[in-house]
Amino acid sequence: MVDNDCLFCKIVAKEVPATIVHETERTLAFRDINPQAPTHVLVIPKEHYRDAAALAAADDGLADEVIMAAHRIAEAEEVAAEGYRLVFNTGPAAGQTVFHVHGHLIGGRGLNWPPG
Ligand code: 5GP
Ligand code: ZN
Repeated sequence: MVDNDCLFCKIVAKEVPATIVHETERTLAFRDINPQAPTHVLVIPKEHYRDAAALAAADDGLADEVIMAAHRIAEAEEVAAEGYRLVFNTGPAAGQTVFHVHGHLIGGRGLNWPPG
């Protein structure tokens, strides 16, 4: 499943460059181009799903793999112990601009709650 107009599908296909920090058979993670914290990594399934609900509905363990990849990256970036945030913006009102599901792994600084 690939969407030819999707930026993150193009990153998976290596047609658009990105700083890749982690890769498994079915997941990819790369640094956000506009980082909001010392660690800001986008974790995605290589297959195209528009949002977290669509990914979860696939019900084949891929959502679990994305979340576990995020945690492994947090450990590698040494933010897991102090804590990090994993955010799936879903829909325009929440600020989703790329409609290929991605978890924002954010850490390395204090994070306010509630978010803006
Ligand atoms: P959203 O707003 O959909 O939750 O998150 C999209 C994220 O993708 C934003 O944080 C934005 O900075 C990031 N982004 C947009 N274009 C690119 C790109 O070409 N490369 C990378 N690495 N990140 C991008
Ligand atoms: Zn895509």
